[in-house]
Amino acid sequence: MTRHVVVTGASRGIGRAIAEAFVAAGDTVSTIYRGGDLPDGVTGAIADVTDSDAVNAAFDELEAQHGRVRVLVANAGVTRDGLLMRMSDDDFTSVIDVNLTGTFRCVRRAVQSMMREKYGRIVLIGSVVGLMGNPGQVNYSSSKSALVGMARSITREVGSRGITANVIAPGFITTAMTDALADDVIKRYEDSIPAKRFGGTDEVAAAAVYLGSDAAGYVSGAVLPVDGGLGMGH
Ligand code: NDP
Repeated sequence: MTRHVVVTGASRGIGRAIAEAFVAAGDTVSTIYRGGDLPDGVTGAIADVTDSDAVNAAFDELEAQHGRVRVLVANAGVTRDGLLMRMSDDDFTSVIDVNLTGTFRCVRRAVQSMMREKYGRIVLIGSVVGLMGNPGQVNYSSSKSALVGMARSITREVGSRGITANVIAPGFITTAMTDALADDVIKRYEDSIPAKRFGGTDEVAAAAVYLGSDAAGYVSGAVLPVDGGLGMGH
């Protein structure tokens, strides 16, 4: 039987590439997403990760079709940038609600199934910014750095049950999120990256497939940077 892999937000960007890579690896792939078209071979259930009941119902729907989830890639994320002194409560809490609490909602539901299976691979999509910080992203970097604590607590809580939890910390990856950056900002970022370029979504997907694989069963609580060397030492 193939493994059931759930990737949140697989309609576009990094999530889409991750879903495609797991399909190519031979897994049964589904997504919890808000709408839009999906890659070939990926089943979708509509839910917003800020809604616990909708997340639970989406997992129920997908598991009824494909069996218990064995791999979760929590990818859904947003930015709402602004300088600290001008950042509203809503700017802060709305980003936390998607990136951190939304991830928690998905992980909580997935772990129920993984405990029964005595097998699980949890991959959280963090960010280099969660480790290095970034001006204008106090909300986003807080949400992403918290995923490291989450993965490590999950590891300590359920690591004896065949379940691993790790964080991928992508650097600047070419997607809609980075397309929004001005050309001079992109140039400045490229200059600071040892690889002198932004990454591709396929490069993050390859890391997710590894951490989601049987072969990575003894890797847990780790932060795997996919950032061209940008965050070295953090
Ligand atoms: P995109 O904006 O292209 O995609 C974000 C995805 O998250 C979309 O599928 C989006 O769905 C989904 N999403 C957002 N909010 C919600 C929600 N409330 N409920 C369900 N799904 C939601 O971004 P990327 O592909 O670039 O980013 C993917 C992940 O990688 C994010 O967690 C991001 O923080 C992280 N990352 C990205 C980097 C980059 O350089 N691009 C660098 C480091 C980390 P919808 O289409 O409905 O909006």
